[in-house]
Amino acid sequence: MTNSLVPVKFESMLREISAGGVVLHKQGADWSIAVIEPQKEPAEKASARKSAPKAIFALPKGLVDPGEKPDQTAIREVYEETGITALPITKLGDIKYVYVRSWGDGQRVFKIVSFYLLRYQSGSIDDIAPEMRIEVRRASWIPMNEAAKKLAYRGERDIIRRAQEYLEQHPEA
Ligand code: ATP
Repeated sequence: MTNSLVPVKFESMLREISAGGVVLHKQGADWSIAVIEPQKEPAEKASARKSAPKAIFALPKGLVDPGEKPDQTAIREVYEETGITALPITKLGDIKYVYVRSWGDGQRVFKIVSFYLLRYQSGSIDDIAPEMRIEVRRASWIPMNEAAKKLAYRGERDIIRRAQEYLEQHPEA
């Protein structure tokens, strides 16, 4: 069956569906959000770089498991990658990108990631299971108003702007 959301040129490609979170935490008067520095550096960034690696900031996310709803995935992945528990507020939107697998036969993958706005509930940032260090170098809070310029990927920066718009429209949040 044809998925009307997927452009024709991407139809035959491998597909991955992930979900992730923008976790809000009020620290003093300002909002912070939880970000991760992934362990693996994107191949295209590594080959273009002439100096030491710069920190890459990204939002916590991961593949939607069979039978799992994307908002549940977002909460689970936030916990696994940052060590904090969070509660859902609203869906922010989907981002789409294509990447080439750096392993196996180097297939192109069409990826859709749904992002949710979440509220910090409990836990210490970066208090993660040792096996998660394969994926996450470090998790940290960064001020919300710096996130739009610090995040490495345009799609994630757009998601942060949507989160900021939501907060402006819902100051009671
Ligand atoms: P997941 O976190 O969903 O389990 P993963 O860690 O296996 O996924 P991605 O984070 O999608 O994989 O990374 C695969 C490739 O896509 C990497 O080269 C990464 O740099 C690139 N990538 C990750 N996020 C984005 C994005 N928002 N826009 C463009 N490219 C991205």
